[in-house]
Amino acid sequence: NTKEWQAAFTVIEQLEEAGFEAVVVGGAVRDAILHRPAHDVDVATNALPQEVKTVFNRTVDIGIQHGTVLVIVPEGPVEVTTYRTDGEYTDHRRPEEVHFVRSLKEDLQRRDFTMNAIAMRKDGSFVDFYGGQRDIKAGVIRAVGEAKVRFAEDALRMLRAVRFSAQLGFSIEAATLQAMQEKAPDIAWVAKERMKAELDKLWIGKDVYNGIKKLEESGLVSYLQGDFQVDHWRGFTAENTTCGWAYFALGQKENWQEVLRTYRLSNKEMAFVKAVLSAFHALQNGWTSMDYFTYSLEELETAHYFAQLKELVTISQHSIREVQARLPIRNRQELVVNGMDLLQWSEQKRGPWLKEALQMILTAVVNGELMNERNHIKDWFKRAYVHKG
Ligand code: ATP
Ligand code: MG
Repeated sequence: NTKEWQAAFTVIEQLEEAGFEAVVVGGAVRDAILHRPAHDVDVATNALPQEVKTVFNRTVDIGIQHGTVLVIVPEGPVEVTTYRTDGEYTDHRRPEEVHFVRSLKEDLQRRDFTMNAIAMRKDGSFVDFYGGQRDIKAGVIRAVGEAKVRFAEDALRMLRAVRFSAQLGFSIEAATLQAMQEKAPDIAWVAKERMKAELDKLWIGKDVYNGIKKLEESGLVSYLQGDFQVDHWRGFTAENTTCGWAYFALGQKENWQEVLRTYRLSNKEMAFVKAVLSAFHALQNGWTSMDYFTYSLEELETAHYFAQLKELVTISQHSIREVQARLPIRNRQELVVNGMDLLQWSEQKRGPWLKEALQMILTAVVNGELMNERNHIKDWFKRAYVHKG
């Protein structure tokens, strides 16, 4: 990710050559101080969006109304945002309009937390008006300015504080936490898509348990959909956001599908969660060959991990891959017979029997009771099915 930093520095250099001021801002600066890799290295500048576009040959308008232009330099793409303050807040959501300003200090002031309000110049020096470096060293999340006002402007910031506490293992400064307790009901105003984006990052944080404790301490839990019991999350870690949603689903007292739907999970995410939960429940009696066949390795490993967290005795995680690899077939397409074969062999008309017979054959093959070989299956089918029926 030095590539991203190089791209950002190239952009800064060219803006400076054109007589503008430009710095790296936001998460990348925070993560550099923490020696963590950053995904996006964002640049802020006093150049107006139209001015940014005249400095570079290749640009893409990705959010021009918010002052953001994507600049493409040989090292890669860089988001360049004009210094701005946010306009009037309505509904405790992001403002409709923004105002471009010429001072970096004002731009940094609109940012949520001191650790996110540090700028870095091209020479590596910091612009830090709000004690961001001090707070990062102390592991503290602190609102920029009056916390209550900042949360009233945009309630999502409270959930961001929780997410960062999970991601970084930080504590929340007392006045900031107190303001969250006061403003917690405002979280209901926030769009579910924005909430999901923060929860996605919470689930893959290094200290999810810490995050859920903060959710509880701040009182936010009472205003979010679903059950977030603190104890459920002890020891939980995930590399994959959907694994977090599956574990959240497992902790629901009521209908998990309804709860997850409110967070706008995709169909693919919902399908994964559903499979993991059924694999988890199947594991309580031990997985059959058919379970190993039905669920993907990732679904089985995730369900197994949940069983471990819940201290339910299980098989070794190591054996899952091997048992699955030893299955006679891995998917339905590998079965050497199909419905047409059965119709021919039975000399019967199509009907519900056909699907049943195929399923019986599949189960027998998966269980190793029947070889996946045409003549074997034909004999077996004629004996076990045709003459019975
Ligand atoms: P991540 O590493 O997860 O991307 P980030 O701090 O970069 O974390 P972003 O959502 O990418 O988070 O936002 C970039 C920067 O914009 C933040 O560091 C912060 O300065 C500012 N910011 C983002 N969202 C808000 C908000 N809701 N209110 C105030 N400032 C915000
Ligand atoms: Mg970011």
